[in-house]
Amino acid sequence: MTSPLQPKMVIGDELAAAADGRTFDVVEPHRGTVVAQVPLGAQEDVDRAVAAAQRAFEGPWSSMAASDRGRLMLRFAQVVQDHEEELAQLESRQIGKPIRGARWEVAQVAKVLEFYAGATTKLHGSTIPVSRPGFDFTLREPIGVVGLIVPWNFPIMMAAWKVGPALAAGNTAILKPASYSPLTALRLGELALEAGLPAGVLNVITGPGPVVGGGLAAHAGIGKIAFTGETATGQEIMRTAAGTIKKVTLELGGKSPNIVFADADLEKFASTSPYAVFDNCGQDCCARSRILVERSVHDQVVELFAKATQAVVVGDPADPATEVGPLVSFKQRATVESYVESGLAEGARLVTGGIRPTMDGLTEGAYLLPTVFDDMTPGMRISREEIFGPVVGITPFDTEEEALRLANDSPYGLSGSIWTRDMAKGLRAAKALRSGVISVNCNNSVHVEAPFGGYKQSGIGKDLGMESLEGYTELKNVFVDIS
Ligand code: NAD
Repeated sequence: MTSPLQPKMVIGDELAAAADGRTFDVVEPHRGTVVAQVPLGAQEDVDRAVAAAQRAFEGPWSSMAASDRGRLMLRFAQVVQDHEEELAQLESRQIGKPIRGARWEVAQVAKVLEFYAGATTKLHGSTIPVSRPGFDFTLREPIGVVGLIVPWNFPIMMAAWKVGPALAAGNTAILKPASYSPLTALRLGELALEAGLPAGVLNVITGPGPVVGGGLAAHAGIGKIAFTGETATGQEIMRTAAGTIKKVTLELGGKSPNIVFADADLEKFASTSPYAVFDNCGQDCCARSRILVERSVHDQVVELFAKATQAVVVGDPADPATEVGPLVSFKQRATVESYVESGLAEGARLVTGGIRPTMDGLTEGAYLLPTVFDDMTPGMRISREEIFGPVVGITPFDTEEEALRLANDSPYGLSGSIWTRDMAKGLRAAKALRSGVISVNCNNSVHVEAPFGGYKQSGIGKDLGMESLEGYTELKNVFVDIS
């Protein structure tokens, strides 16, 4: 067995242990072994990181020409690309993510950094025809030091979604990864230095969410928190950030619908949609975990979907053939299993899954087979709550109006899919859904060029696109009197 990695935090140009020297273990969920011992940061480390980020902001970064900033970010993207396989292996190991998914996600990191490198010179203000004689114009300016708090389900990709626009807009940043998944974020911080980003532009600190994340949210030296994670944590961050009137962007939970009308290409729906909920073992904020299906094709859809689900390859994350690995932890599996029990107790019909796999090599890990419930009704817990595991429920509907009412009957509003060959119906439904990211006849509409983010309790503000970049700026208005 190899000995655990011992990465350090990135504070300024220093690879730093926690001020008090403490560490915590990162345990991989495939076998339950310790893969790394990581600094257990505390308030003193938050303060050190804020000081380093402030120095960099006041020093080289905010005064650098936007085009030079862009060039440095392009170099950063290239260095990440040069380390893609190393990063993918780390990602796969720390959270049990299948290596093929990890490779794809790490490749997205370089693309996101490239997009925002190009965007540095496209962040414009406007001139406004006011009613007094003079010139009125706006300037987009960086906020200063921003705190970026990210979850464990897509660790390095979520980090890139925030680091890219934050730096491109001229801010300096402190990245705080989740404790299940600190390894790729820490490496990203090292690679930023290797790429030549000035010390302190990107700092990475680790430690308990309430202490290190909470410390960032409370810190007077930070102007904005961009957060991705659970809705309850987002609420806590908003409360803490209120103390210093910080700007907040929150990307939170979801309970997204997958609406199947009778005229849809049912084969295409069934062959692709298991991945819309079981990918990343269901630990996906966009997971289409509620299938709403028109009653006339209900039985056919249940049969096709169950067959496609049983064909999903569950296995060792290191195997390139694996499509679904373990959950992130044994604790997370216990939570998901309690939802399976509640589905059964509330009268949903288990179609497939709901149990741990018995295949050789998987019994020691935090595995659970992809699980499909039929006869799910809107009041059930499995229909209302974000399970964050490989569980989907199917509910029949009779009319378009009923489908949309059921789809919108959720405190969340992140994403959702609509399947129909009638494009007028598809567009009507896309307009009617109270969610931020909609797909028609597919299950993914996430693009670096386009805004991503939730309605209702799924969040505030956007990731990706130029909209995200604007979210990392202050907007100044200047009037020049020429009377
Ligand atoms: P989480 O809320 O437990 O943790 C997210 C981050 O917040 C971690 O870095 C954690 O250490 C930190 N944190 C925890 N408590 C904190 C506090 N009191 N103050 C400041 N920071 C704190 O979320 P998770 O379990 O890592 O991720 C899963 C959740 O993320 C799910 O709800 C999922 O839907 C959501 N998510 C949303 C999106 C989106 O874009 N909308 C994307 C991915 C994940």
